[in-house]
Amino acid sequence: MEATPTTGSPGGRVAVYPGSFDPVTCGHLDIIRRAAKQFDHLIVAVLNNTSKKPLFSVEERKQLLAEVTQDLPNVTVDSFRDLLVHFMKSRQADVIVRGIRSVTDFEYEIQMASTNHQLDGDIETIFMMTNPKYSYLSSSIVKEIAMFHGNVQDLVPPEVQRALIAKFSESAGANGPQG
Ligand code: ADP
Repeated sequence: MEATPTTGSPGGRVAVYPGSFDPVTCGHLDIIRRAAKQFDHLIVAVLNNTSKKPLFSVEERKQLLAEVTQDLPNVTVDSFRDLLVHFMKSRQADVIVRGIRSVTDFEYEIQMASTNHQLDGDIETIFMMTNPKYSYLSSSIVKEIAMFHGNVQDLVPPEVQRALIAKFSESAGANGPQG
């Protein structure tokens, strides 16, 4: 299913969940499901970060996100490469959703939230605590395990597991993932 960029519906509360999602994990999906209940419309926005070398292209990451959220009618998938606050204005969104796993996440996130608020005083960041089941889970860990053909079945949705297996069989012999 192709994700379409969406503008905020008038009167509805639009939130953006930004991230690398390289690839989306069960930890991300847990945050998406919980955040979708809190807002009229949740946009999951893939950061097109040219300084990182991702395993999956932005289009692949968007496609996987669209597949694993297809049962959530108020969730759409998009991407951005500009400042997050500019992207949010263009989508009439005023809330950023971020997940917190640890004190380390918190220290980084508070800096980002303060910066975004400084850039646009109408924007609030809302933090959702990780589901304790996924407190150790990151895209990087998933990539490490999958690269060595370990089992990631409980860490990512089945669509992502298939994509990881395909990716590492197609890149067999090449260097491992970064980022
Ligand atoms: P970024 O590069 O922006 O940190 P990520 O895809 O790593 O992108 O993470 C996006 C967001 O999801 C961040 O707020 C991160 O803290 C959160 N997140 C990542 N993994 C988990 C998890 N297992 N549980 C809860 N939140 C998570």
